[in-house]
Amino acid sequence: MTYAFADTSRFSFFRWVSLVCLIVVLLSGHAFANRFSTVVIDAGHGGSDKGSLWGGVRESRLNLAVAKELQTLLKKRGIRTVMTRTSDTYISLPRRAQIGNAQRNAVFVSIHFNASRVTSVRGVETYYWGSSGKILANAIQRRLAPRLSTKNRGIQKKGYHVIIDSRHTSVLVECGFISNARERSRASTSSYQKTAAKAIYDGLMAWRAL
Ligand SMILES: [Zn+2]
Repeated sequence: MTYAFADTSRFSFFRWVSLVCLIVVLLSGHAFANRFSTVVIDAGHGGSDKGSLWGGVRESRLNLAVAKELQTLLKKRGIRTVMTRTSDTYISLPRRAQIGNAQRNAVFVSIHFNASRVTSVRGVETYYWGSSGKILANAIQRRLAPRLSTKNRGIQKKGYHVIIDSRHTSVLVECGFISNARERSRASTSSYQKTAAKAIYDGLMAWRAL
């Protein structure tokens, strides 16, 4: 009887320890799920691929300007960054995804500007793929539109190559329409580019803290 009792309580003790461990693992897994250590910054287009071209403004240049501002902010915070390009060079879409996928514990942010034949169209939008991408896209988008004082065109799930080929949480941010004369001239200023980068940065930090 004594042995049987001892065995039962030992079983019960281990069962409780296992349960507590499981809960701790689940909770910490949740708490640190967004704790990236590297941000892969993908400045869209470049080189022979200029992206959209309106009124003498090349999308590829604006993308790189915002990407570099974002890199500066992240570096100041001590977060490692990897740029898919740092100059006006052509990088293929598979290569961009490959650069991102070679990183561990990373998040992938592609930066673009938009264009439409309807030149009155303006505003910002963020694309995502996957459920964590949706939350990150929301965190960025809700800061981007008010801070840039432009139209909030919302977030959308869309299968752009760079984001669907990424093994990390990934988003593609469209920082404004260069086909709209007013937005194009605003987007060409360093203050607009800095504001866009700061909104993306703050979105990343907010998502990271979730
Ligand atoms: Zn683009």
